[in-house]
Amino acid sequence: MPVRTRPDLDDLAGFSTVPIPADAVELASNELPFGPLDPVLEVIGRAAGRVHRYPDSSGRVLREHLAGRFGVTPGQVSLGAGSIALCLQLAQLTSAPGDEIVFPWPSFEAYSLIARTVGATARRVPLRPDGRVDLTALADAVGDRTRLVFVCTPNNPTGGDLGRAELEKFFDSVPEDVLVVLDEAYWEFVRRPDALDGMAYVRDRSAAGRGNVVALRTFSKAYGLAGMRIGYGVSCEDVADRLRRLALPYSVSSVAQAAAVASLDADEALALRCAAVIEERERVRTELLGLGHEIPVSGANFLWLGLGPHADAFRLHCLERGVLVKAFPGEGVRITVGTGGENARFLAAAAEFRTPAGPAL
Ligand code: PMP
Repeated sequence: MPVRTRPDLDDLAGFSTVPIPADAVELASNELPFGPLDPVLEVIGRAAGRVHRYPDSSGRVLREHLAGRFGVTPGQVSLGAGSIALCLQLAQLTSAPGDEIVFPWPSFEAYSLIARTVGATARRVPLRPDGRVDLTALADAVGDRTRLVFVCTPNNPTGGDLGRAELEKFFDSVPEDVLVVLDEAYWEFVRRPDALDGMAYVRDRSAAGRGNVVALRTFSKAYGLAGMRIGYGVSCEDVADRLRRLALPYSVSSVAQAAAVASLDADEALALRCAAVIEERERVRTELLGLGHEIPVSGANFLWLGLGPHADAFRLHCLERGVLVKAFPGEGVRITVGTGGENARFLAAAAEFRTPAGPAL
């Protein structure tokens, strides 16, 4: 007799992962092609010598570092095993069956999975044609049953980012008892002059007694620590306190905490590598435009090809040439910016792609 499990989870698709062939060029998961910043590897080695002890479950040292950096109290900072863990905790904190979680689509696929996990109804709001979140439609989708809203900027997978004025207007339009998550996983690659710095915004908004926006960032992308699993959020103290009480004890490892603290001391190296990624991003985009693709402007470390029905054929075409990219079947393909050599291999593959209808795209 099968064990009783939640029937509403019977058709759960799960998070998609792809097998990675040896020697493949990995441009499918928005990681950086570089390792941890100097001297983070050394710090990881030292911290590994103490893994017979449990980590500090409160993450005190890292939270103090982050609080100092963003001008908030340590009580406003939450840590998670990746910011994905914080996304889940925020859903667990706010939403139950019958409630709604509103988010843009296509966007970070975990939003859908997380909504299902907590039994809430997912309300997906289509993006604008330029690949950015449609804040007007998102605001319209917020209703009586909405408990949580995700706003992703730059949006994964399209790369479009939002400006300060439109974001502030949106936050002000959401009822103050609905929590809004500003997901800034790719913040370090944003260069638009009117960008809203979510951490500063939440700091000021919380100080004014308005606690319904939380900003999330991660060490997985620009800091090169995707495998370490560590991300963070800044909110008002009440939300952060509730998140901490809900978190799985010891889920953020001691090695990850040490690596994150050391990473925060490497600002100069971080800026250099982000500049290199952005330069490559623009070079790859120009080349793809030259091949006849339409590519939205990206504020992240990836680019979006809106190939529609040809998305999966393009992915397979690249895979056959040893290049892994991420397809969203029927919608498009997301390509992470790699090293110059990796991007050259991808561009060579892209140049050879022909849709079934002929050479044009
Ligand atoms: N938010 C967005 C928009 C992402 O793309 C990702 C990773 N792909 C995350 C959150 C989660 O990152 P992590 O859990 O590695 O911190």
